[in-house]
Amino acid sequence: MSSLPVVALVGRPNVGKSTLFNRLTRSRAALVADRPGLTRDRHYGRGRTGEIPYIVIDTGGFEPVAKQGIEVEMARQARQAVLEADVVLFIVDGRQGLTAHDREIAVELRRNARRIILAVNKAEGMQREAVAAEFHELGLGDPLAISAAHGDGVRELAELALAPYAEEFEREAQRARTEAEVEAELAEAARAVQQARAAGLTKGAGTGAAKAPAGKAGTPDGGAPDDAAVPEAEPADPRGPRRVKVAVVGRPNAGKSTLINALLGEERLIAFDQPGTTRDSVAIDFERGRKPYTLIDTAGVRRRGKVTDMIEKFSVVKTLQAIEDCNVCVLMLDAREGVADQDANIAGYILEAGRALVVVVNKWDAIDESERERLKSELDRRLHFLSFARTHYISALKGKGLGAVMRSVDDAFSAATRKLSTPKLTRALQEAVERQQPPRKGPLRPKLRYAHQGGQNPPIVIIHGTSLDSVPETYRRYLESWFRDQFKLEGTPLRIEFRTGA
Ligand code: GDP
Ligand code: GDP
Repeated sequence: MSSLPVVALVGRPNVGKSTLFNRLTRSRAALVADRPGLTRDRHYGRGRTGEIPYIVIDTGGFEPVAKQGIEVEMARQARQAVLEADVVLFIVDGRQGLTAHDREIAVELRRNARRIILAVNKAEGMQREAVAAEFHELGLGDPLAISAAHGDGVRELAELALAPYAEEFEREAQRARTEAEVEAELAEAARAVQQARAAGLTKGAGTGAAKAPAGKAGTPDGGAPDDAAVPEAEPADPRGPRRVKVAVVGRPNAGKSTLINALLGEERLIAFDQPGTTRDSVAIDFERGRKPYTLIDTAGVRRRGKVTDMIEKFSVVKTLQAIEDCNVCVLMLDAREGVADQDANIAGYILEAGRALVVVVNKWDAIDESERERLKSELDRRLHFLSFARTHYISALKGKGLGAVMRSVDDAFSAATRKLSTPKLTRALQEAVERQQPPRKGPLRPKLRYAHQGGQNPPIVIIHGTSLDSVPETYRRYLESWFRDQFKLEGTPLRIEFRTGA
């Protein structure tokens, strides 16, 4: 798959960047909204305009001169995002008019950004020509008047920003649609087979619902006899273990390079000499316990020479693209630093991208018992929305805990790519409904008829039935945790989608 286009939002504080960010990422954000612990003040998200998915980064306030401490690092990251983004949306405030600060930002953007689109926000009720005239002197071409709060002009803005990618992604979407149709047809056929069998086997039993013959429904090796005749969407890969793509991500100095070096071992330390821009991660193949992996190195361990210049120490764009590219993400936190907003931001993105996940708390050697207790409760509180993932407490420096981390990587990958057959999913669905019916809405009660798998990594369970629009979010959550339990899907996000049909 082609890598996703990266859109960065830049502008003074209060011009409406986060309002625009929320609008661009809204449909996606619904997937992660209201998870306890997930920061509301997000900076990284995924958007979709038509068929084009993209990465959105809110660079925060863009101060021409950074102040001190953490602000210096944030300003550095904002500047790097500008350098690496495919397109920068420069937001100005139509009510306030052009300011000196806007001019300074414009100068910097002209020097550093690949492509800039100027958007005048808060322009609801204003005359487009007047708006355009005022901001024309920035020398960035015709500004687009928008209202992030009301949504005016936002779609045009996104379409303009992504126009260069439209053709490519439409082709890809067409391919995906065809595949999805085939999958759905196979599922329908499987259900028909199952129903015919159920009718034959349970003649006179009344409901005609196919029940698991014995034992726990949906145990992966439950081996229900009727599975054999059912068409499988995809046969098992005969080539043996698949190469797992693992990205190690986290803030600067968490210990990513130390972990990667420990995993690769001494002999691999021979300098790589792989050129590339800073926004591209270097992929390193290695084996461990005979299993093949590809490490996506966001830490710059393998960059030319040992250019671990601070400039290349951490890149938001590189981190988000590595998350997009991997099968399993290892999110590394620094035990000495606790959970920072940026950790929660990256974690939120991992969830949104649907990647399998292992959380690693590094530098466990460096803190004492009472700090460990405190940190564990902080993790519970702030990263509760990652409770589907395993957490390991390790010391990359001392090489402690690496084996367990890699085992969890394997387990998360296998959960994320598990094949879930239509009969087993449908049985599990029926059992879930028997235990707990979806609530009635008005005169209608949603009817959940059957389920099939709509994708892997993350697993997507598509539920077919009638009146599914009125299934409440709480019930969707119930089904999610039910399927997660039944199919042992630890370590991976799980998506439940509803399709209302005849
Ligand atoms: P940021 O600091 O650039 O992220 O700005 P925010 O998104 O937090 O917005 C700053 C203020 O401007 C908030 O009070 C918003 O409600 C308001 N705002 C954002 N977009 C619009 C808009 O299109 N029209 C108007 N009138 N106000 C807006
Ligand atoms: P990166 O920026 O995430 O790649 O971080 P590095 O791997 O460069 O590590 C940053 C610093 O943390 C270095 O000084 C490491 O020696 C140190 N460090 C890494 N792992 C550990 C650990 O497990 N324990 C302790 N005490 N220090 C560590």
